[in-house]
Amino acid sequence: MRIQILGTAAAEGWPGIFCGCTTCAKARALGGKNLRSRASLQIDDIFKIDLPPDTYYHSIRFGIDQSKLKHLFYTHSHGDHFDPDEVEYMSHPFAHCLANAPIQIYGNEKVMRAIKSRHERRELPAEFHTVEPYIPIKADYLTFIPILAEHARNETALNYIIQSETATVLYSSDTGFYGKSTLDFISNFKFDLLIAECTNGTALHSSQLHMNMRDVLKLRTHLTRAGAVSPATRTVITHFSHNIGLLHEELESKAAKKDIEVAYDGIILEV
Ligand SMILES: [Zn+2]
Ligand SMILES: [Zn+2]
Ligand SMILES: [Zn+2]
Repeated sequence: MRIQILGTAAAEGWPGIFCGCTTCAKARALGGKNLRSRASLQIDDIFKIDLPPDTYYHSIRFGIDQSKLKHLFYTHSHGDHFDPDEVEYMSHPFAHCLANAPIQIYGNEKVMRAIKSRHERRELPAEFHTVEPYIPIKADYLTFIPILAEHARNETALNYIIQSETATVLYSSDTGFYGKSTLDFISNFKFDLLIAECTNGTALHSSQLHMNMRDVLKLRTHLTRAGAVSPATRTVITHFSHNIGLLHEELESKAAKKDIEVAYDGIILEV
């Protein structure tokens, strides 16, 4: 699997769209890895997790041809992961010659309801699948297993385990520290890569809807004790809020001490 993390910011982006704080000012001045867009994961040419409002920017910046898309998975309905307007652009007359239509779209009930109502207005070249936590989905040569995230009060927010014949990846975004059912479930796998949200960075305070570095370490320790993570497993953090106040290199030097890698927009992870 060739995984590319297309966006590594929390909802407002980094620099925050309307934010004049010192951290955002420094990010604007320095550019490079300090510029973070909204969350999405591209896997090979045909798989994608989430369709944020920055999808067009991602396609241009990273040279991605989304006419090849075949399987689109959603985590939840928050605007930095799910922009229903963007979905319409796969239909006529906005798009022609899609290589893999009908595109298979998967998400929780709330997301699928919103997409189907768009479909009623403008026919999408797609098939729709409402998914449930812990029930695997075979998608070509990969298996996606939705798991229950600790994130949203009014919908079943999902994270995903992604498996090929040779590798297993945990994509934990967006979520607070997992509840027992998810911890028990994910303890039964052997992960090659953990991609974990770390919205709150090295802040000591923890929220129930997002993780900080301490939560990520707690998750890795839990999985190590269960035998689901080994010293060879890479841990990569993403989905950062500018409120953590650390620019990319500052966060990287703190994370490196814990054997954690800090994602940046466009980072490619091969497993
Ligand atoms: Zn988010
Ligand atoms: Zn800011
Ligand atoms: Zn969210």
